[in-house]
Amino acid sequence: MTNRKYTVVTGASSGIGYETAKAFAERDKNLILIARRENKLNQLKKEIFSLNSNVNVLIFPTDLSIRENVNQLFNDLEPYELETWINNAGFGMYGDLENNNIEKVEKIVQLNVETLTLLSTLFVKKYRHVAGTQLINMSSAGGYTIVPNAVVYCATKFYVSAFTEGLAQELIQSKSEMRAKVLAPAATKTEFGQVANNLDTYDYDQSFGMYHTSQQMAQFLLSLYDSDLSVGHVNRETFTFELSDT
Ligand code: NDP
Repeated sequence: MTNRKYTVVTGASSGIGYETAKAFAERDKNLILIARRENKLNQLKKEIFSLNSNVNVLIFPTDLSIRENVNQLFNDLEPYELETWINNAGFGMYGDLENNNIEKVEKIVQLNVETLTLLSTLFVKKYRHVAGTQLINMSSAGGYTIVPNAVVYCATKFYVSAFTEGLAQELIQSKSEMRAKVLAPAATKTEFGQVANNLDTYDYDQSFGMYHTSQQMAQFLLSLYDSDLSVGHVNRETFTFELSDT
């Protein structure tokens, strides 16, 4: 029988979200792809079709840092049956707080915290009784250990870790059919570095020497998806990946 359920990936237009969408397509998952850049989402849709022409791919170009868009998006998704929601969209910002651009500070909190909370809540309310459903939220190694010069970013990711781990426990205690999980990557070569540093290009080799690729991170996310455990953590020192309970 044809699978009519969908996996939603926010921030699917580049980096970890892009590769995660491809990895789920290879597992025959239908996909709903969300980000601002429509051209990149269309490019991904084409790539997925050449990987696996059996899956349906829908794109919803949306700026998730605007509150009204978030409610509208969830309403627009009403006709589709969802099984997994991956809140991956997010960005970082480096530099001392006193030098941070106020608008950027607002946007980062809106996207990384408020939007993630609202989308998680809407998804949980609608699907918590549906067997096999999963909510996966993207934190960071910086969501477990603070890095100076990125305090707003780290604080937003501490929130994501706390929110998702708490929700994971709550869902288990209330015997919900849904599972909540959190992934905490360390340095991964994506557009993240250039966005966080406000640069057109960013040299990961020079800055980190050691980092993961988006493809590797997508595979870690898949192992978290397959696991009964709720936390997937990349160790910032050793770059090893560990799954654990909350
Ligand atoms: P990218 O910059 O490559 O991807 C970020 C994604 O988020 C893009 O698809 C972007 O799409 C989307 N996005 C950004 N702003 C918005 C918005 N306002 N509305 C909708 N979508 C938006 O970075 P990564 O792949 O590295 O980041 C993915 C996640 O992983 C983030 O949450 C990040 O914090 C986390 N992470 C990354 C690490 C790294 O080293 N790379 C380490 C730890 C965590 P578009 O611009 O088209 O809107």
